[in-house]
Amino acid sequence: MALKYTAHVNQKECVSCGTCVKVCPRGAISVYKGVFAVVDKTGCIGCKKCAKSCPASVISMISKERNYEEKELL
Ligand code: SF4
Ligand code: SF4
Repeated sequence: MALKYTAHVNQKECVSCGTCVKVCPRGAISVYKGVFAVVDKTGCIGCKKCAKSCPASVISMISKERNYEEKELL
């Protein structure tokens, strides 16, 4: 059921460390121009690895269908 969810980055708070890029098994998250992380929502499988590893805790999981934050999933 993980496919129902996608990672969402609070880009204002991202410190562009690149940790999420390294842990993503699908290559679905990248750091745009070295400034903030961006998620490819079609590639994301909702595994939460990026959210769990982000040192700034700026990644949350959101429902692809309803588009609200599912922070309790972390
Ligand atoms: S791990 Fe967190 S702070 Fe680092 S680039 Fe990814 S979203 Fe930004
Ligand atoms: S939830 Fe998993 S698949 Fe989606 S961007 Fe994060 S690490 Fe990649």
